[in-house]
Parts: sequence; C-alpha cells; structure tokens
Amino acid sequence: MRMTETSDLQVLSIPLRTRFRGITVREVALLRGGAAGWGEWSPFLEYDAAVAAPWLACAREAAVGDWPAPVRATIPVNVTVPAVGPEQAHAIVLRGGCRTAKVKVAEPGQSLAEAEARLEAVRDALGPDGRIRVDANGLWDVDEAVTAIGALDRAAGGLEYAEQPVASVEDLAVVRRRVAVPIAADESIRRAADPYRVRDLEAADVAVLKVQPLGGVRACLRIAEDIGLPVVVSSALETSVGIAAGLALAAALPELPYACGLATVQLLTDDVAVAPLVPVGGLLPVGAAAVDEAAVARLAASPDRVAHWQARLAEVDR
Ligand SMILES: [Mg+2]
Repeated sequence: MRMTETSDLQVLSIPLRTRFRGITVREVALLRGGAAGWGEWSPFLEYDAAVAAPWLACAREAAVGDWPAPVRATIPVNVTVPAVGPEQAHAIVLRGGCRTAKVKVAEPGQSLAEAEARLEAVRDALGPDGRIRVDANGLWDVDEAVTAIGALDRAAGGLEYAEQPVASVEDLAVVRRRVAVPIAADESIRRAADPYRVRDLEAADVAVLKVQPLGGVRACLRIAEDIGLPVVVSSALETSVGIAAGLALAAALPELPYACGLATVQLLTDDVAVAPLVPVGGLLPVGAAAVDEAAVARLAASPDRVAHWQARLAEVDR
C-alpha cells in the first residue's frame, strides 16, 4: 500500500454535542492528497490496524479524487429522532426539514408504549407522505422484535423498514420471515465479507453501508452490485470530508430508493468544510467538501495525539 507522508496527515480533535458511542470528543485524521484533495481517515480509537486499513483505503481514494461518476446531484437524507418523548420527537422532525425520519426504539428502561407514542408524534409531524424507519440497534430478542415491529408499524401508520431489530445475522433472518415490515442490516455489516453473509442468509431487505469500514466508494459500489439489495448509505460520525465520500457512493448507485443516514455533521460542535454538509430541505449536495484551512488550524489535535495517529498510520502501512 502506498505510504502517506506523515506531513500530509492533519489530526483534528472535535468535541461532540452529546456523548455518542461512549465518547465526547471525536478524533479524525485528514489526508491531504494532490490537487487540493482531502480524505478523512477516522477509525475509532479502539480499532486495531487490520480494522483501520479499509478506512485508510477510503481516505486515500478520496484524497486522490478517485470517485465514480455521479448519477444524481443531491441526496435525500433522514432526520434522526433519539429515544425522546413525543413532544420533543415532534419538534425534532419539524426542525429537521427532512421527509424521512429514523426513530430510535428498543431503548433500555423504556416501554413499548413509549416508543409507540414517539412514532405517533413523528407521523403527526411528517404527515401521511413522510417515511418512517425504526432503529433498534440489535437490542431486541426475536420474540420482542416480532411483537414490537408489528405494534410500531401500526403506531407509525406504516414503517418503510426496521433497522437491526436483533443483534445476529441468523436472528435477523428469523425475524425477517416472521414480520411484514422490511428488515435492514446495519451493525451486521461492518467488514467487507459481512454484506455477502447477509445476502446468503436472506437476512435483510436493505443493506446499510458505510464507506470507511468497507474500504471506500468503489468497494461499496461493487458490494452493492454483488449483493443485489437496495442500499442506504450511512455515516461513521465524520466531518464533512468523510460525509462527502458517503455522498459520492449515494450519488453513484444506480438506484437510491431510500433516504441516506448522512445528516450527522451536526453531532459535532465544529467542522472543517467551508460549507458544512448540513441538509437543506432534506437534501445534501454531491461533491468534494472544500476544506477551510483556518478550521484545520483551529481544530488541530495536541502533538502527542498527532504522534499517536502517525504511529497508527505507520502500523496500517507496514
Ligand atoms: Mg443503525
């Protein structure tokens, strides 16, 4: 694999608005390519070199601008509704301006009735034409999932799909055979081999793909072709530079029947783009994100963190 000069590596430290995945600060590395191109390399800190390698392939592809030709110029995205009460859920959907809402369910300590109330409020805010999906992050068992999906489908006045209702691919396949609502695989797809397993077990109707863990835009496009499932492109808590890579995949897919999960820049308190990729009217624009050098300087990580990422890079490249 081609070496990246460590001088081309910018390490940034960006606080999150609220704790996510147990972290309060997101550390990302940006690779500066030729012709003012940038790529984001932001594997989470606990990932070892083998896991971080496809993330680096994605960043290098972006830095050299090697993306497939887009077939659309804007990408519809969803607003995400956390496991909040109905009034707050209603307000989040109205503020988001998106036509699709992803609603978090299966929150530990909450009842199914609370999730039903949330979904009724989201439907009320979106109107009859809006689309609603739920995301359980694998927290139900099979029987809980079957009961909950039916109840939430009724409360929502129709769900477009249920994302990762149970943790394992095998259980996903079982649930899929017992409910009428389509099933999406998210956490079940983390490494390049996973989408094929989802396909082979007929475990899902929809595949959620993230460009960094799966090795880049072209790698994901090949996977999408191979598995023959509709794809929802999602983010890995990235800056606008990383989100632009997800948008490049969404733009290149021959079919894009669902809104993507790429409206996540606002989870960070700051961004590196001249024009941060925040949706307008539920859409994000396709194209590389122009990087603001002043933001890179403002968000620069401490020298010890830069040294850590340089060592990480050397380990992946070894
Ligand atoms: Mg998910």
